[in-house]
Amino acid sequence: MRWQWRIYEEPLREPLATAQGVWRSRSGIYLRLEDEQGHVGYGEIAPLPGWGSETLSADIALCQQLPPHLTPEIIATIPEALPAAQFGFVTAWQSVGQLPYRLRPWPICALLGSGRVALEQWQQPWQQGQTTFKWKVAVLSPEEEQGILTTLLAALPQVAKLRLDANGGWDLATAERWFAWLDRHGNGKIEYVEQPLPPDQWQALLTLAQTVTTAIALDESVVSATEVQHWLERGWPGLLVIKPALFGSPERLNVLLREGLEPQRLVFSSALEGAIARTAIFQCLETWQPCRALGFGIERWRSAPLLTSLADYDAEWHRLDNYGKNYYK
Ligand SMILES: [Mg+2]
Repeated sequence: MRWQWRIYEEPLREPLATAQGVWRSRSGIYLRLEDEQGHVGYGEIAPLPGWGSETLSADIALCQQLPPHLTPEIIATIPEALPAAQFGFVTAWQSVGQLPYRLRPWPICALLGSGRVALEQWQQPWQQGQTTFKWKVAVLSPEEEQGILTTLLAALPQVAKLRLDANGGWDLATAERWFAWLDRHGNGKIEYVEQPLPPDQWQALLTLAQTVTTAIALDESVVSATEVQHWLERGWPGLLVIKPALFGSPERLNVLLREGLEPQRLVFSSALEGAIARTAIFQCLETWQPCRALGFGIERWRSAPLLTSLADYDAEWHRLDNYGKNYYK
């Protein structure tokens, strides 16, 4: 199968403040495959080293090394250390002759700004039918945040669910105080707390998950399939946030699910990938059947619509010409 690749860099709609500083653009590699009968397929490698994947330069080096004709055997040699590349090539290969996909829209979690703005921001997505919300914590003091949360929990309708994301920003003592508070005041509306402690505190995370009532999800701790596997072997009893674009070959999740990983323990989330990867992820979701709202509410930063025709793919392949350098094989 012949293939081409091109690097893109797309400015974000608004800067994104992260623990690694402010991000202003998102880079990746688009792949285009074509078989001898003229069937095409597309893939996207969207690494995010700040969130634990390989670097874009590592993926560029891979693309430069691969031969001009791909086979499944060649794709299978992409190392575990390049999970975003594994995802891009495996999904590109699977898409050849299969596009466009028929995809269903899954419920999406609405992101609320940190602090008091959340008290106003939940209402518009609620009116549009969204029932799951996420609010960043560990931004203000616990007392201030618990004050706001009391008001927010009282305002949210009973069927609404709220996720709290600490992004690893608590220490153990703060986390214990928070969980004691949530176990008393959560009101049945707290779906889970995401990454209460930094990823290196894995023993404390395990102990917390075994002792508190409120559910805990690992996010920063589990980026690649290898890390997910590692945590399952440690006996992690809680939820796992999966960012498919950084996870590796989707087949590895299929294997874990066949081996008994319960689908309700998974939360699927975006890594700010572009439209090609997003559409590939939604195709995977047809197999994975998510049980929880998706963490794909990223429109504020990047527009990544699902691609519903071959013309959409072709337009997306060319859309970023102005931003990226183009490489052809
Ligand atoms: Mg998170």
